[in-house]
Amino acid sequence: MNILILGGGGREHALAWAIRQNPKCDRLIVAPGNAGIAHVARCADIDITSRSDVLDFAQENAIDFVVVGPEAPLAAGVSDALRDAGFLVFGPSQQAAQLEASKAFTKEICDACNAPTASWARFTDAASARAHVTQHGAPIVVKADGLAAGKGVTVAETIEQAHEAIDLIFQGEFGDTSVVIEEFMAGEEASFFVLSDGTNCLPIGTAQDHKRVGDGDTGPNTGGMGAYSPAPVLTDAIQTQVMDQIIRPTIAEMARRDMPFQGVLYAGLMIRDGQARLVEYNVRFGDPECQVLMMRLGAQVLDLLLACATGELDRITVNWGEDHALTVVMAANGYPGSYDKGSTINGLENAAESSFQMTFHSGTSERDGRIIATGGRVLACTGRGVTLAQAHQRAYALIDGIDWPQGFCRRDIGWRAL
Ligand code: ATP
Repeated sequence: MNILILGGGGREHALAWAIRQNPKCDRLIVAPGNAGIAHVARCADIDITSRSDVLDFAQENAIDFVVVGPEAPLAAGVSDALRDAGFLVFGPSQQAAQLEASKAFTKEICDACNAPTASWARFTDAASARAHVTQHGAPIVVKADGLAAGKGVTVAETIEQAHEAIDLIFQGEFGDTSVVIEEFMAGEEASFFVLSDGTNCLPIGTAQDHKRVGDGDTGPNTGGMGAYSPAPVLTDAIQTQVMDQIIRPTIAEMARRDMPFQGVLYAGLMIRDGQARLVEYNVRFGDPECQVLMMRLGAQVLDLLLACATGELDRITVNWGEDHALTVVMAANGYPGSYDKGSTINGLENAAESSFQMTFHSGTSERDGRIIATGGRVLACTGRGVTLAQAHQRAYALIDGIDWPQGFCRRDIGWRAL
């Protein structure tokens, strides 16, 4: 079959790498792709948030199945346009994508199905929001309601910090004039990934990531500097609790509202005293969590995504290995602040590529036969092994073979689990 993947980051490189290994995949196109993806698929430069551009491209290229990687095309309704035109699609509708696009929407769903999460309130004016914070005290969490690329959330340690965050939101900093204020939840965070075809749910793995830029989880927040799977904190008992109290009730509530959720539901969880509460939902794979999940699942991913798109998740099981995966992100010096683009990355040609070691590209392009860094997060060096320590050793062996003085990585990915 002819498959189109939308996106051009490390997540899509990992998806393409896994899907390519499945004999059902005849032709694979990734739009826009990147220099690493170009080794496993054809790359096509189209505007993936334009419904008509994607639709035209899929028709012209006789595509049978479309996998939507990032949130932007989902929020723009690209999956709806494709589905309406008769294409098989992996990715939720625009309405169902509200589970990520609107924090207030997710909170209402949680309330409606009694899913454990932080208590919350929504405000459309600064004065009421400030008064709420003054009344409840700190620590407290202030969130811009809509999508803000990870920058709209402030975990405020003082009332003053919370007031400042509220003022920024109402000054239009995030293009949003609605704020969600939440109870602060203490605990350890982990991610849980579940496929749903609208009715059935199938867990496909757990992961933990490192958001802070510096070793020891210090410095500013980033899109993620590394991840590992499985997440030891998500025990079987907690996974059962999450499925029973959070995931299945959410999927049922979405179906009841006539906006069935079809795609991957990525639950950000806070674990404390053996119980999980929901922090947030994302409606696509995380980056770099996708890299460790794909490394573990391999070629079967295509069968799983197809079963999800055709409503047949009740007929498929995940073939689990006794394995661990760990990925280390290499970013451009200066990230997450300002950084230079265009430096040359050497040493990639020596890197082993196997089902145990893969360097996924996030922000690269090829110029005159050289690999050039084009983003903040640039590579995700990923190892798989029978133990986390072995996966760790394999990932850092890849890192150590790369010659890129303009880039850096954290040296302690996985420390909590190791
Ligand atoms: P954005 O909407 O800006 O893209 P996001 O979707 O990543 O951000 P969240 O995941 O809701 O936002 O919050 C980001 C981080 O803030 C979480 O990973 C968690 O560490 C922290 N956080 C969010 N809500 C809470 C809470 N109620 N209690 C404690 N920590 C929280």
